[in-house]
Amino acid sequence: MTCIIPAMELHLYNTLTRRIEAFEPLTEGKVGMYHCGPTVYQRPHIGNYRAFLFADLLRRALELQGLEVLQVMNLTDVGHLTDDADDGEDKMEVQARKDKIDPWKLVERVSAQFFSDLEALGIKPAHHYPRATEHIPEMVEMVEALLGKGHAYRVGDNIYFDVHSFPAYGRLSGNRIDELEAGARLEVNDEKKHPADFALWKSDPHHIMKWNTAFGPNGFPGWHIECSAMSQKYLGPHFDIHTGGEDNVFPHHECEIAQSVCANDKPFVNLWMHTRFLQVDGGKMSKSLGNVYLLDDLEEKGFSPLDFRFLVLRSHYRGQLNFTWEALAGAAEARRNLRDFRGRLGAQAGGTPPGESARVVQADQAFRRALSDDLNTSAALAAVFELRNYTLREGLDASAAASALAFLEETVDSVLGIFDPEDARDDALSDARVEALIRERTEARASKDWARADEIRDELQAKGIVLEDRPDGLHWHRN
Ligand code: AMP
Ligand code: ZN
Repeated sequence: MTCIIPAMELHLYNTLTRRIEAFEPLTEGKVGMYHCGPTVYQRPHIGNYRAFLFADLLRRALELQGLEVLQVMNLTDVGHLTDDADDGEDKMEVQARKDKIDPWKLVERVSAQFFSDLEALGIKPAHHYPRATEHIPEMVEMVEALLGKGHAYRVGDNIYFDVHSFPAYGRLSGNRIDELEAGARLEVNDEKKHPADFALWKSDPHHIMKWNTAFGPNGFPGWHIECSAMSQKYLGPHFDIHTGGEDNVFPHHECEIAQSVCANDKPFVNLWMHTRFLQVDGGKMSKSLGNVYLLDDLEEKGFSPLDFRFLVLRSHYRGQLNFTWEALAGAAEARRNLRDFRGRLGAQAGGTPPGESARVVQADQAFRRALSDDLNTSAALAAVFELRNYTLREGLDASAAASALAFLEETVDSVLGIFDPEDARDDALSDARVEALIRERTEARASKDWARADEIRDELQAKGIVLEDRPDGLHWHRN
């Protein structure tokens, strides 16, 4: 069965409605989008980067549609407790103690690592990276609004959201308040009116990152209120898209909806999108298993961060993705094939202007159609590889090659961002590729296809590969 979707209209899966919907921006031609960013207590691992690569893909796909995107990703630098809910210690402070460093210095260190990783991964910078600690007044104002409207209550210097005051609580995650309250997942906290209520503001004289506000001298925000307040500041109370990893659905995003809708009496977000977790060796990435990988670990084994980018982007964001070294090597090889394809198209085009090519138009349409179908990147890439295979098999004339090159560099790479113009490795041929080209040249000569044989020799020469005919056969080395 084929799914008929107009090529230009983006269809995206909404966690809230559990359906794929036609995307309609609130303001014509513009999109406001917020992503839950890293908690900056440790350098983000490659699993976190699956979520951030997804955010980047989404932005680029929206831009390919001609939409103007305003993108915001927060940095959580206070208030994210070790159990994701209201109990446990602040992750920042636990780590700062372990590293014997001031938590404020830790924020700086990890944020710098994060930004350098984003650059290495070819992730376009968001327009704003608000930090929680720099938006305390906005959070206080929102908590005051919730208190004023009877959605929140104070117990000493702690303030909780009353989930029973918001009938839609649970709609995003499919949780029901009665089941949550009966469930063993929630720690019983005697202070709260109901076990499912969550903290908006906490107070603790031992907390290092704390503020003196209208709520008392030793306060700090709950993790959920941070994203409600910061998204509103940069995108307004009602905006288009909010994303995160699958673990953000509950409690984090469920609580954000409750806070924002109740504080503003307005709808909050139209489209909620979530990435599936990156797994490692078929299971969870966890410190105790020793399988938490950083970008550096990949680079140490000779992989480019763009190989990881390609590994992530070639599978669907809602599908399971299991990280293995073999899978990464496979992605690196496929990326190399695309780079070789680009090099070959450049050589074939030889400066000729792009001309009409039915093959390229077909690939372009298939690529865009696949992306519009809930960002089906694997189908989009299949269209690119089909064009590559056709070109290798049948060849393209110079103007068609130029148009294929434009498609590859302007359309495909504007969305996937897998070619690195700065990286010489990107233009280098792999050994296997060199040998395949040499074999192809030998066959071309055997069948007296001198033009092809010369073209291959030129391509190899351009990449610094020197061929030597010796009595014992053909040898090659890099210049
Ligand atoms: P955190 O630093 O824990 O606040 O997480 C930052 C982002 O990474 C959140 O959107 C998480 O949902 C996401 N995330 C965490 N672990 C993974 C994983 N293994 N795969 C994909 N996303 C993840
Ligand atoms: Zn968030």
